[in-house]
Amino acid sequence: MLYLCATPIGNLGDITQRVRETLAEVDLIAAEDTRNSLHLLNHLGIKTPLTSYHEYNKYDKAEVLIRKLKEGQDIALISDAGTPSISDPGEVLVKRCIEEGIAVTSLPGPAACITALTLSGLPTRRFVFEGFLPADKKERMEVLEELTGETRTIILYEAPHHLLHTLKELCEALGNRPIALCRELTKRFESVEHTYLDDAVEYYGKEEPRGEYVLVILGQTREEKIRSERAVWESMSIPEHMAMYEVQGMDHKEAMKQVAQDRGIRKRDVYNALHK
Ligand code: SAM
Repeated sequence: MLYLCATPIGNLGDITQRVRETLAEVDLIAAEDTRNSLHLLNHLGIKTPLTSYHEYNKYDKAEVLIRKLKEGQDIALISDAGTPSISDPGEVLVKRCIEEGIAVTSLPGPAACITALTLSGLPTRRFVFEGFLPADKKERMEVLEELTGETRTIILYEAPHHLLHTLKELCEALGNRPIALCRELTKRFESVEHTYLDDAVEYYGKEEPRGEYVLVILGQTREEKIRSERAVWESMSIPEHMAMYEVQGMDHKEAMKQVAQDRGIRKRDVYNALHK
């Protein structure tokens, strides 16, 4: 069996009893950074052999691990910190195990995204986790564009040296919104700043960010969403309004229905405007 084992995101006391026992009992531990994980294992007094499984060997190494699992070995997967597969390698190996009919189980524990959400003071009922924004410029712009109309609470990961740049981009794309900057969670200097995007940009323009951050941002309210969508189509003609939805992937009939609904007119009026 493959055991996905969540490990602490800072405070070593957060390891669960079940993860501790599993790491001691499995035949092999696949770790993102074996040197890093050795500290944790030494702390726990665990001597299970380690092998590396990281971003740069995740396809080839998955096949090696699959072979071992098929031979009957039990393997635990751990990442540098937190839950494997969450902005960390794991997804590829899990997918391959499922394809090969190998049993997988997940031992829950710390994840920075959920810890941050609970501390954010922002709505927790509906949220979207984006992980790190893509590094590729075009893809990044597309994700930012998608997030603009997001009504759920948004959770992002960011490294300190990219924080200011990302905050600026978020402020530009989403407008000034409440944000919780959750820093060094579970560690000695844990802090949560409940502020606004523009104030965060100003603050980190002067102060150097230190440590690890999770950004939790308030989603757009439904009223704001309706208002901003209205602002987009209000200056358009009916054919342009139709084209906007068709480009987004709606078929002709659906687009007619949506245009009529947006404008508070009948579908027949949309049809007439198109065939004038
Ligand atoms: N697998 C991890 C999890 O379950 O949260 C995430 C790993 S991802 C490579 C690393 C990012 O997670 C960091 O850049 C930071 O955004 C966030 N992170 C991890 N530990 C954190 C902590 N103690 N405090 C704040 N953010 C943390």
